[in-house]
Amino acid sequence: MEYRLDDAYFESLGTPEVKKGCVNVFVSINKEIDSFIFRFKIRGQVIVPCDRCLDDMVQPVSSDEQITVKFGEEYSDEGEDLVVIPELEGVIDLSWIMYEFIALAIPMKHVHEDGECDAKMVDKLNEHFLVSDGEKTDPRWDALKAAFDNN
Ligand SMILES: [Zn+2]
Repeated sequence: MEYRLDDAYFESLGTPEVKKGCVNVFVSINKEIDSFIFRFKIRGQVIVPCDRCLDDMVQPVSSDEQITVKFGEEYSDEGEDLVVIPELEGVIDLSWIMYEFIALAIPMKHVHEDGECDAKMVDKLNEHFLVSDGEKTDPRWDALKAAFDNN
C-alpha cells in the first residue's frame, strides 16, 4: 500500500507541529501466527516553523518504522510499537500512527540554512531575549543563593 500525505492530510489532523507537507508512506503488512507486522517506509518533506526565526521551513523526513498489530478486547496503542484493535471492528486507523512516525522523524533542532532565516524576525527575537535577561532575578533564588553563601 502506498499513501501520499499532502497538505489536506496534515490540515485535517490539526496538529500544531506540522501544518503542511508532502510525504509518501509505503506500508507493507506481514501476517504472523497471532499478529500482523506493519512496516512503514516514510519519505518526504514537511513544513515546520524554524527554531531560530519561527518562519516556515522545509524539513526532509525519512524513516523506517514498524508496529505489531494484534486483535484484542479493546483498542490500545500504549505498548511499545504494539497496537491492539478490537476483534469486532478489525479496522486500524493509520493516520495518527503515520503522523507520530513523521513527527518522530523531525529533528529536535530544525533551522533554516545559514542566511535563510527571516532577518527581521531574528532581530525581534534577539531584542526580546535581551530584555528578558535584564529582568530582575527571582527573589526565591536570591534567598537560596544567600543560604549557600553562609556555608
Ligand atoms: Zn529560520
